[in-house]
Amino acid sequence: MLLNQPLLTIVIPCYNEEEVLNSTICQLSNVLEDLISESLISKHSRLLFVDDGSKDRTWQIIRERHVNQFHVTGLKLARNVGHQKALLAGLEKARKTSDCVISIDADLQDDTAVIKDFILKYLDGCDIVYGVRKKRTTDTFFKRTTATGFYKFMTSIGIPLVPNHADYRLMSKRALEELSKFTESNLFLRGIVPIIGFKSACIYYDRKERLAGETKYPLKKMLSFAFDGITSFSIAPIRFITILGFILFLLSGVAGGYALIQKFYGYTSSGWTSLIISIWFLGGLQLISIGLLGEYIGKIFVESKRRPKYAVETDLFTSPVENMKSKRARIILEEMKQSSK
Ligand code: UDP
Ligand code: MG
Repeated sequence: MLLNQPLLTIVIPCYNEEEVLNSTICQLSNVLEDLISESLISKHSRLLFVDDGSKDRTWQIIRERHVNQFHVTGLKLARNVGHQKALLAGLEKARKTSDCVISIDADLQDDTAVIKDFILKYLDGCDIVYGVRKKRTTDTFFKRTTATGFYKFMTSIGIPLVPNHADYRLMSKRALEELSKFTESNLFLRGIVPIIGFKSACIYYDRKERLAGETKYPLKKMLSFAFDGITSFSIAPIRFITILGFILFLLSGVAGGYALIQKFYGYTSSGWTSLIISIWFLGGLQLISIGLLGEYIGKIFVESKRRPKYAVETDLFTSPVENMKSKRARIILEEMKQSSK
């Protein structure tokens, strides 16, 4: 029996998850109860569901469960800001009152059985514990190949990702405090967490199918996530373009010399095809280069504004059950009703 059991908060970002939410709450509540009964975590440990501007009944479900169960809490964001920022909102909120925080997706594709191993590693002195998928057989062929390619590419350009680790991880209060010092708006958590440092460990598990509902990461979101990940971490693409520019410059010198010799000997051909091809080729290349530069300038633009990443609408984590604003609003409404009588 441990004297000081750590206070754990499990942060779960949710976007239109009404189909899975009830079973997710049940399953995670059981995990929490088991850990509490084994005296591994404090009995004040809680679940924090971050509603990322859902349009369905997600928030109602969180609220209803919160009223009946102390350990179910919620944070409602004012609009949909995307998985990474929603997760960050939860981590920042939980950091102040928790000793360690675990993040997990609402669809429970990640095996909750290893949460105990996360805690054991934490008690063993690890500040960060990464959940790593053993194999991706439950993912579609497309998702599997694109994800593998993405991890390989990121590692090859020097971004230190933990392969096959998504956002299922444990972070200690200390690690979260370090994370909060990263003030950039384009936060790519999977890339940033490994550069924080501290003692870390990996726990391996099999990834399951989504409990219900559909993926909230369609191709468009996935591509923009990958692109953001690459450009917010590395200037390798710009360097690649520069090297390509040099190579083309050398090649065009050779080609120019060749054309001059041809002309000198009088073998001039019509040249239309090569001209058109080079116009298109160079035009395309220039556009790509400008676009890439624009991407970085855009990032500087966004960062320089230091905009807040999200706005919280209702906070059931720090002020349980009743939200001050709605309480006050009700009193004002009551008063208005009284005076109109
Ligand atoms: N999610 C979110 N905001 C979004 C999109 C997704 O909070 O704009 C949440 C979603 O509810 C889930 C997690 O992020 O808990 C991961 O999404 P999903 O399981 O759909 O992604 P996949 O596993 O298919 O990559
Ligand atoms: Mg999922």
